[in-house]
Amino acid sequence: MAQLLRQIARSTIVPGRRTFSAQAESSTGPSFQLTDVQYEFQQTARKFAREEIIPVAAQHDRTGEYPWDIIRKAHSLGLMNLHVPQDLGGMGVNCITSCIVAEELAYACTGIFTALEASTLGQTPVYLAGNTDQKKKYLGRLLEEPIVAAYCVTEPGAGSDVSGVKTRAEKKGDEYILNGQKMWITNGGVANWYFVLARTNPDPKAPASKAFTGFIVERDWPGVIPGRKEINMGQRASDTRGITFEDVRVPKENVLIGDGAGFKVAMGTFDKTRPPVASGAVGLAQRCLDEATKYALERKTFGVPIAHHQAVSFMLADMAIGVETSRLAYWRAAWEVDQGRRNTYYASIAKCHAADVANKIAADAVQIFGGNGFNSEYPVEKLMRDAKIYQIYEGTSQIQRVIISREMFTQKAESA
Ligand SMILES: Cc1cc2nc3c(=O)[nH]c(=O)nc-3n(C[C@H](O)[C@H](O)[C@H](O)COP(=O)(O)OP(=O)(O)OC[C@H]3O[C@@H](n4cnc5c(N)ncnc54)[C@H](O)[C@@H]3O)c2cc1C
Repeated sequence: MAQLLRQIARSTIVPGRRTFSAQAESSTGPSFQLTDVQYEFQQTARKFAREEIIPVAAQHDRTGEYPWDIIRKAHSLGLMNLHVPQDLGGMGVNCITSCIVAEELAYACTGIFTALEASTLGQTPVYLAGNTDQKKKYLGRLLEEPIVAAYCVTEPGAGSDVSGVKTRAEKKGDEYILNGQKMWITNGGVANWYFVLARTNPDPKAPASKAFTGFIVERDWPGVIPGRKEINMGQRASDTRGITFEDVRVPKENVLIGDGAGFKVAMGTFDKTRPPVASGAVGLAQRCLDEATKYALERKTFGVPIAHHQAVSFMLADMAIGVETSRLAYWRAAWEVDQGRRNTYYASIAKCHAADVANKIAADAVQIFGGNGFNSEYPVEKLMRDAKIYQIYEGTSQIQRVIISREMFTQKAESA
């Protein structure tokens, strides 16, 4: 199947359907018509999500067990590492197609989806800033085996304010000695390798744009010590941990770009990864809408299905408005990436809007289920717990608004 998806991603002709190559996709203008490549990926992901993820989602939520089985199957189907370029043996799928796949997987379980997506987050700095050898070695490894990566930036004292990162790397000969502590790292205990942001300029007055360096660090190296798995409110299948680095020796070959380039690499990553995170929130919101609509058409009060009470049908209508507009927002943000343009503004709008909408919709879905909505035998309680993190990770909703307003003011100043 992976073979088939790879062929589809590379093909220009699929019998019976109008098709575009993955490269040709990125040159099209705005369109709400999926290309044949996108359609095939969407249908494969939808079938996989419904048949393989939904049946095990509640169990992973209860136990917190990491979804290795799903990862193995997704890997063999070709539903992971979609963005890895074709010259490295990957599929080189564009951003909007990856997001369409992400929405389908997240529909089934955002905890399991986050385990997959966090690997893309860890890979993106290497994809964006790695040299050929680094890409071949570390992205190639992920193509060969069903293993995952992780992105290590946040620390106990530095989340929104990344410039507060205290982990430090000191150059000694041909290597760097890494010391410090990271926190809230998704895939922290299971990743094969990490992207790690560390301070390399000890001068506290050095600007963030020059003070930090990005490294590729392997999990098995001496001194890499993942902490316990955190017990979170939702998305419990995902593995979140602190990680301590104690005198870890990192060869200079594992520096991305060079000394001082790390902050830009770490922040630039989000332009590419916020659209798929937004699409994950849309998948969750769509699931809430589907579950709530089905329930509202079946459950009767006062002799009629509750969907016939205007208070309920309008709630469902508002949920549909939220799903459709947040989907449009992530399509725009992803499309900008595929046009090769800077998409910071659209990525933050998509992520912020989809996160806020998913939380409102999940709460409304619980409301429509009444007492049953508050109970773990029904699906929406999990969806409400899972939704919250979308307003926190990859930049909180407040930070997205900081970015959006800053981008607006910069654009205004530039056009004045
Ligand atoms: C489950 C989970 C998974 C995560 N995965 C990863 C990962 O894989 N890799 C990684 O590096 N990090 C990860 N994170 C960390 C996540 O990105 C941070 O938690 C997030 O950026 C917020 O940082 P903080 O927790 O330090 O909160 P703080 O920065 O302390 O913020 C606290 C509150 O203050 C608000 N605030 C802060 N500054 C401002 C401001 N300037 N204006 C307005 N409001 C502000 C915030 O919005 C928030 O409401 C994860 C976190 C969680 C919970």
